[in-house]
Amino acid sequence: MTVRAESLVHRYGDSVAVDDVTLEIPDGEFVLLAGANGSGKTTLVRHFNGLLEPDAGEVFVDGLSVPENPVAARTAVGMVFQDPRDQFVAATVGADVAFGPENLGLPREEIDKRVRDALDAVNLSGEADARVDELSGGERERAAVAGALAMRPTHLVLDEPFTGLDAPAREAVLDRLESLSESGTSVVVVTHDVRDVLELADRVVVMAGGSVVVDGTPDRTVGELAAHDVRAPCRPFPDR
Ligand code: ADP
Repeated sequence: MTVRAESLVHRYGDSVAVDDVTLEIPDGEFVLLAGANGSGKTTLVRHFNGLLEPDAGEVFVDGLSVPENPVAARTAVGMVFQDPRDQFVAATVGADVAFGPENLGLPREEIDKRVRDALDAVNLSGEADARVDELSGGERERAAVAGALAMRPTHLVLDEPFTGLDAPAREAVLDRLESLSESGTSVVVVTHDVRDVLELADRVVVMAGGSVVVDGTPDRTVGELAAHDVRAPCRPFPDR
């Protein structure tokens, strides 16, 4: 199953933010969606779970048209926004992670299991009762990922998840994303800086001016990133 955009166009008034993008992301793929500020990355991924409506073109998740199946899309595609603080709806980590499954109307037992599994998956099992406003940056990001995971998404999109994280926190988040991708969840990381994540990715997609201008494996694309304002490793990428 896949996330697929076909000839997708999004306009804000007269300005075109996503300009005829066709892109397919299969299950289990770890994709970096890179590009300068304003290149259309956030706008594109917001179409994946129906937060925006196409002005032209189509978006499908697991074969279903997103605009026609917004609830299915929202369940299948987990989104972690740029500043997770804007995403928390409850006071404690456990209550926040439970919020999504509660809204699905699941039985209490199933909700509790999902919360436990999601917190385990991001190494926050001991923090269910912690207040979300007292978490460190890295814990906050992982709590937000847990909230998305509790919905059991088949695709996970994270918008600039490493902003403000120190190296150990970034490692911890990355570890989790890698194992999710290995277990079959597609992971899309939106970023303008691929320095620490390039080697982990299966694929790099670069946007500029609303279009996809580069799409390929990390070793094939590394040389083209700087030209598109993407921070890339300064050493040549090792052959694999
Ligand atoms: P990126 O995520 O790559 O920084 P965005 O998708 O946020 O890019 O923005 C793409 C373009 O759309 C930019 O020119 C931006 O100014 C514009 N834009 C984004 N959001 C809005 C909005 N809500 N209203 C009007 N213009 C917007």
